[in-house]
Amino acid sequence: MECPRCSSDVPEVSHFCHHCGNDLQSGDAQRKKAYAARPDEPVASFKLVSTIMPQGAGRQPYTYRVALGIALLLTVVTAALGALPVAIMVAAFAIPIVYILYLYDVNLWEDEPIPVVAAAFVLTGVLAAVFTWLWSDKISLSTDLVGGNPGGPSGRDLLILMLLVPVVSELIRQIGPIYLASRPRYDDLMDGFTFGVVAGVGFACFETLVLHWGWISGGFAGPGSSAGTWISVVLLQGFVKPLIYGSATGLAVAEFSGLGEKYDGFTPRWVFGLIQAMVVNALFQGGVYLLGFVGGHGSTVGAILGVAWGLVLLGALIILVRTVLHKGLLEAALESAARGGSNHASGELAFCSRCEMPLLPHSDFCSACGNSVRSVPKSERGVAAQGSAPAAGFDGTTGETQA
Ligand SMILES: [Zn+2]
Ligand SMILES: [Zn+2]
Repeated sequence: MECPRCSSDVPEVSHFCHHCGNDLQSGDAQRKKAYAARPDEPVASFKLVSTIMPQGAGRQPYTYRVALGIALLLTVVTAALGALPVAIMVAAFAIPIVYILYLYDVNLWEDEPIPVVAAAFVLTGVLAAVFTWLWSDKISLSTDLVGGNPGGPSGRDLLILMLLVPVVSELIRQIGPIYLASRPRYDDLMDGFTFGVVAGVGFACFETLVLHWGWISGGFAGPGSSAGTWISVVLLQGFVKPLIYGSATGLAVAEFSGLGEKYDGFTPRWVFGLIQAMVVNALFQGGVYLLGFVGGHGSTVGAILGVAWGLVLLGALIILVRTVLHKGLLEAALESAARGGSNHASGELAFCSRCEMPLLPHSDFCSACGNSVRSVPKSERGVAAQGSAPAAGFDGTTGETQA
């Protein structure tokens, strides 16, 4: 049978074309109901874990969800009890720690020395801390960024929050991921996206620590009437903000990486992604600042509205990320199908990590479940499934078969 989208020869029994990912049964080449990195979910979905952790979504989908849930609960409870130093520390480090576990889980470092990867992000963190300290010192906001100053919004503060902060902080977030994505080992679209998320999440962590240093050094406040405001602040800073920063930066770095084998570099598409990230950040900062004045100085209403605004932006970003990655994976597969297929699944005995069916040679997609091979950690692509006989030439060590 010939695939109508890429003209490859595909077995009659295939559900999806193993070259271009076309859904041969429904004939829907856009695959709106089968997200490339998670075919049992639609593209337009608010599923957070499979969006920001695309390479691990097939393996332990519940691990990250449970870890995030526990961190969220711990943050809310400590904030409600007025244990502000604990609440803000948990909020600052929860998502970075879960994301580091994810990177370790999917073995993103591969044989790259960990210090190289770590250095790129320590640099992001240091720059984030210094820059945040510089601008937050110049702005007449209370340290918790809620309620604003008693005198009402000022144009100067808005200019700092909606122009200076988004532009400079986004440039800082690009440095580390772009350095890594320009290394041959990490030139893939998914790597670029992932490194962007790491930089965004790391930046948010250090920014939160600097902005809320008053909470950390101020000691335990004890339960009080401000509990609603405290909970809103830790939710916004610890869970909404890092995900907004991370997915916006991830989208821009994914454009830097591009679809093909090598990285695309500083193309107009990257510039567009960069400006898009800056606009999203400006909307976030400006919206939270202005909504903080609703209901008067330090009001809980303003703080809750800030969280709601952040969630609206995050929801839109999640849909955007899924659409971009989905289209990217399908387009890249179509391009490589024209060249006879990719070498992403190179082993003689390669199995789909999602449904465990054998992969056809040069697969970009699993022909049974439609999962994108590029959404699987590289170390697993060419390796025989656990428990089965090793392929010829396979020396029994794991993760070393990538050419
Ligand atoms: Zn095809
Ligand atoms: Zn499969």
